[in-house]
Amino acid sequence: MADSSDVVIIGGGVLGMSSAMHLLRAHPELQVTVIEKGDDVAGQQTGHNSGVIHSGIYYRPGSLKARFCVDGRRSMVEFAQEHDIAYDRCGKLIIANRPEELPRLETLYERGQANGVEGLEMVGPERVAEIEPHVTAIKALWSPATAIVDFAAVTREYATQVRAAGGRVELGTLVTSIATRADGVVVQTDRGDYAAKHLINCAGLHADRIASMMGVEHDLQIVPFRGEYYTLRKDREHLVRGLIYPVPDPDLPFLGVHFTRNVKGYVEAGPNAVLATAREGYRKRDFDLGDFAETLRFPGFWRVAAREWRTGINEVNRSLRKSVFTRDLQKMIPEVEAEDLTTGGSGVRAQAVRRDGTLLDDFAIERTSQAVHVLNAPSPGATSSLEIGKHIAGLAAESFALA
Ligand SMILES: Cc1cc2nc3c(=O)[nH]c(=O)nc-3n(C[C@H](O)[C@H](O)[C@H](O)COP(=O)(O)OP(=O)(O)OC[C@H]3O[C@@H](n4cnc5c(N)ncnc54)[C@H](O)[C@@H]3O)c2cc1C
Repeated sequence: MADSSDVVIIGGGVLGMSSAMHLLRAHPELQVTVIEKGDDVAGQQTGHNSGVIHSGIYYRPGSLKARFCVDGRRSMVEFAQEHDIAYDRCGKLIIANRPEELPRLETLYERGQANGVEGLEMVGPERVAEIEPHVTAIKALWSPATAIVDFAAVTREYATQVRAAGGRVELGTLVTSIATRADGVVVQTDRGDYAAKHLINCAGLHADRIASMMGVEHDLQIVPFRGEYYTLRKDREHLVRGLIYPVPDPDLPFLGVHFTRNVKGYVEAGPNAVLATAREGYRKRDFDLGDFAETLRFPGFWRVAAREWRTGINEVNRSLRKSVFTRDLQKMIPEVEAEDLTTGGSGVRAQAVRRDGTLLDDFAIERTSQAVHVLNAPSPGATSSLEIGKHIAGLAAESFALA
């Protein structure tokens, strides 16, 4: 006999757990089961990110990212305060060093204003020196509301709330296939079957596969991009007070390597963005034949490669040569030397790419009467997690006709 629930959520990352929490808040009578293959929640993207509570500067006004990030920053800070989770409103500088970067900085300022980002200010070199004494910039955007938090700690608190509301979190359980029936789904796992009336797919790096298991027609594939970090040596941490970012390339969904102070008390530099040869390829040597062959078979990947091959080569070069990574960091803090940096952790981004080679920028959430699928949730997905979870719970209530 299969275990039975009203709603099964696949994925115990920050979005799966937030969705479960919001669903149970709105519908306490539901039987909700979260299925997570890892031994704990937050083991993939959520536990390997930069820990930045973004303020909402970068995103196209009117996009889901803009809406959920601006509201999500506020709700995340309130949640952290309410549940005693360490966070720090340390602020962030986006710095321009060359005159040709100024129009893009101006565009970011306008976007931030349009999105209603709190306290955003364009500042000159003197103010930059007050905020970050070791940074050189001709102009910068100062976002005092940007903060840092440990998103794994946030996700564990979501899980606590889910369990307290009667939800179940089944850890160490890998979903292998899904059978759809007229009255629901049967989720097959390596620990038995889970029957449910409805399903929410928050499987991150594997979300496209879960959607395909349910026969959802989509033209997306997750292409994994590893982000590698260096850690700043303890005696050089004084070089960075908060968060220091470059002006990003407007054609790419990545923010450029930056300096991040984190709540655990150290300073990281990164992440870069290199194609990973495994969906969970956290180390350079990680290789999964099935994952990589799937990437190579996907026409969308080749279209991105044809367009962005120069960026791709530069990223690989920067990943392999610390001197190149250091040179990029020195554009922001000239005093940083290669010997100040030790190899740090890494994360893998689940970037959805369309068959035509479009790198999806906005969050993408598809729904049917049986399921809601989160198909693209890159940064600022963690910042926005309370808003995305609430939105998913709302979509689920509508699509699943929950009373
Ligand atoms: C390097 C990096 C830096 C980032 N920095 C930031 C930042 O500073 N601020 C910010 O807001 N966002 C940031 N992000 C984005 C943020 O981390 C993501 O938006 C967010 O974590 C997505 O959460 P998720 O729950 O969708 O995915 P995940 O955290 O990846 O969770 C998905 C879960 O599904 C599980 N799963 C998958 N397949 C199966 C299966 N078949 N069976 C059972 N379980 C399964 C996985 O084990 C995993 O735990 C960053 C991301 C990366 C990679």
